[in-house]
Formats: sequence, C-alpha cells, structure tokens
Amino acid sequence: MEKVTMDKIVNVCKQYGFVFPGSEIYDGFANTWDFGPVGVELKNNVKKAWWKRFVQEDKDTYGVDAAILMNPRTWEASGHVQSFSDPKMDCRKCKQRFRADNLIEDFSKGKVAAEGMSNEEMEKYINENHIKCPKCGSFDWTEVKQFKLMFETSRGTVEGDKDIVYLRPETCQGEYVNFLNVQRTARAKIPFAIAQIGKSFRNEITPGNFLFRTIEFEQMELQKFCKDSESMDIYNEYKERAINFVIDMGLDKDKLRFHDHDKLAHYAKAACDIEYKFPIGWSELNGIHHRGTWDLTRHSEFSGKKLEYLDPETNEKFIPTVIEYSIGADRLTLALLCEAYAEETLEDDTTREVMRFIPALAPYKVNVLPLIKKNHGEKALEIYNMLSKHFMASYDETGNIGKRYRRGDVIGTPFAITIDDETLENDTVTVRDRDTMKQETIKVDEIVAYINEKITF
Ligand code: ATP
Repeated sequence: MEKVTMDKIVNVCKQYGFVFPGSEIYDGFANTWDFGPVGVELKNNVKKAWWKRFVQEDKDTYGVDAAILMNPRTWEASGHVQSFSDPKMDCRKCKQRFRADNLIEDFSKGKVAAEGMSNEEMEKYINENHIKCPKCGSFDWTEVKQFKLMFETSRGTVEGDKDIVYLRPETCQGEYVNFLNVQRTARAKIPFAIAQIGKSFRNEITPGNFLFRTIEFEQMELQKFCKDSESMDIYNEYKERAINFVIDMGLDKDKLRFHDHDKLAHYAKAACDIEYKFPIGWSELNGIHHRGTWDLTRHSEFSGKKLEYLDPETNEKFIPTVIEYSIGADRLTLALLCEAYAEETLEDDTTREVMRFIPALAPYKVNVLPLIKKNHGEKALEIYNMLSKHFMASYDETGNIGKRYRRGDVIGTPFAITIDDETLENDTVTVRDRDTMKQETIKVDEIVAYINEKITF
C-alpha cells in the first residue's frame, strides 16, 4: 500500500463527510475546519471514550464544564497576559511568517535553545548566521516581534467603553478556579482530579497540517491534585494510562513514543509528551506535566481566596501539587484517521478504501441494506428504526450491494446487514464484517446484542 499522506487524508475527509474546510463558500477561513455528519460522530466517540476511561471509570475524578470567557484576572494570574506570545518574523520577499525561535532551532539542529533568548538576541543570531527563509531562500527579514497568542474580544455595549476579555487558550484554568467548589461539593479527598472537555483558542503563528494545529480546537484534560510526596508516582501513572488509552483507541504501538522534556518550567519537576508518527513526522499528541503548586498559588495570590486543602487526618493545610494530562480531541481524531485509513487490493484485483476504526469509535455502527428496494425496503426500514434506537445506524438502498458495502467501508462502519428474502421468511439477516468481509447469518432479534458486544470500549 502507498504511504498515506496528509493531503490524501484531507481529501478523503472532505469527500466522505468527515471534515470540510471552514466557511468554504466564502473561499474558506484559514486553519478552521468544520466536522461533517460522519466526522462529528467520530469526534464525539473519541470524546466519549476519553470521558469514560478517565472520568466515569475513575471514582476520584470529577467533571466540570467551565465558561470559555473567564474573568480577565484569571489570565493575569496564569501568566498568559504577560507572556503567552511567540517571537515572529516575516520574510519580506514571500510574506511567509515564521517563529524566530523555530528558525534558530532548525538551523542549529536543536543545538541552540532559543527559548530563553530576547528578541534582539534572536535577531542577532539570525543575521550573524545568515539564516535564510525556508520557503523562498531569500534573506530579507522583518524585525522579531512578540506575537500575542490569545484572542481578544470585548464586553460592553457602549461604544468606546469596552472591557477586553479573552477567548481561553487552554481549558485547565476552569478547573483551577473551581478547585474549592468541586472539593467541597464532591467531598473529594486528595488525590483527586477535575476533568474537562472543551474548546480552546490560540492565535497560532504557524497553524496548519489540517487538524494538527488549528486556531480553535478542543482539549480533553484533567488536573490531578495531590501531595507533593506522591506527585511523581501519579505523574508516572498518568504517563502509562495516557499511552495505554491511545493504544486501546487503535493507534499502533510502534508509532508512539514518549518524549521527556529536558528544559522544565521553574516550578515543574517533570514534563513529557507522547508523540505519534503522523504523516508529517513524529509530533506531539498529548502532554503530561508536573506543575508543582504554581497554578493554585498564583490563583490564591490574585483572587485573595486560599486554594488550600485541609488534610482530615493530619489537620494540616497545604496547597496541593498538580499533575496535568492534556490531549487535543481534534489532534487525536486526526491521528486515528491517519491510522485507520487504508487502500487495499482485494483478491479479485479491485481496490477498496477502508477506515479500520475500532468499532467503539466508528461513526456508524451498522449499515442497513435492503437487497432489492422494492421487495425488502419496508422490512429494512423497520430494522433500521429498531437499531437506531440503540446506536448510530445508516440506511442505504441505492446502487448495487457491492458499492453500498464500499460506501460503509470508507467511513469505517464495522457491520453491514443485508435484508433479503430469507429475512422475510425466517427473520434472519446476513451480517458482513468490514475487515474480514466475511458474512454470517443471525436472527433479527439478536442484532442489537451482537453489535453491542462488539462496540464496548
Ligand atoms: P504544541 O507544542 O503542539 O503547540 P502545546 O505543548 O502548546 O502543543 P498544550 O498547551 O500542552 O500543547 O496542549 C495540550 C494538547 O492540546 C496538545 O498536546 C495538543 O494535543 C492539543 N493542542 C495544542 N495546541 C493545539 C492546536 N493549535 N491545534 C490543535 N490541537 C492543539
């Protein structure tokens, strides 16, 4: 099989209703994407699987759904207002924009760490080393400027009397500010976690690569609050849980690796990413960070409310240490699309496109097909109506049966059910498996249990 490229995935997604370019009829809006009828089911299943694994099945984790617009003081406390920016530089010739730190790191093959450099130092290094524009090869740079990554909007109805508010660039602040509320109402004992799935917004300098880096995306993340003495064990536990989760979702073990960070924030004891081998190369899929007591300390200072925990056994009060685990729902969906897509040559030399999602993730669980519309359509609709009460089912009556199988294969539907004369006579259907393409006969009243057993995650 040919290597799957990102362009191929983008085309397949557009063609089969997974993902469309955002605002397409207005010639699009760069780096925004709309999930279509098939894609929204896939992404919802990704989020459901994450929530089940990390919230539902963990008695010490509690969910929240916090507001996107937060009191702007939140972003002062978190440090985003002061420092959530990247150094950018434009090529005057081709107008392409780059991150100056990335230019230096790429040029020095990672030997020079640009992160701690001032704008002037970066400019000096780029000029001295005559680093050229990676796109057009010219050497004609604008000066380095800090580029703010937070989107601003404003609140207030009177012209000229508007307060700036920010679209949140990360979801986790919603958990920190609710630490006391959740701890009190859930009567939670440390270690416990608060989890959330929601949208974040970043005015990225170099967005791109389809869903990999967009300006609006969803994060699935949790913050585990614990004693400092147990924090490293919990950090290591989440490394394991995070990698096992994506393997269970269907990502190939050999395309996953840990990347432990050498450079750490001053408050952190450890940080690591899990990387996946996307068609663009090894890239971050998720992060696990030891954040010390930094976040709750800062919010205590800025809000004047003590975000402390009273240990019921020792009567000691302290600010808990935080372990953060965060993964992008869109980025994971992209990894799953890249992993699942295959073009196969069959025994009869024809080819088929197939998405081999695990059944729990498949947008539709079953495709209901009347063999001949005129004879079997009514019964097939009856069966579709019965099945759609249990899971997403699709109904397809047009074209020959082989074509209809293929349409289900390419959107990853794991089972196709054919309704024929046998169904009318004996109340049985044939079930075709997407991967093996083998068929078996089962009773109509067994279909729900048959599928339910295979789609549990
Ligand atoms: P990166 O280094 O790729 O910019 P990050 O280290 O800034 O990511 P975090 O702030 O730790 O990322 O966010 C957690 C997760 O959110 C990332 O691992 C990724 O899955 C997802 N994510 C972050 N930024 C984006 C984006 N612009 N588009 C899509 N997903 C994103």
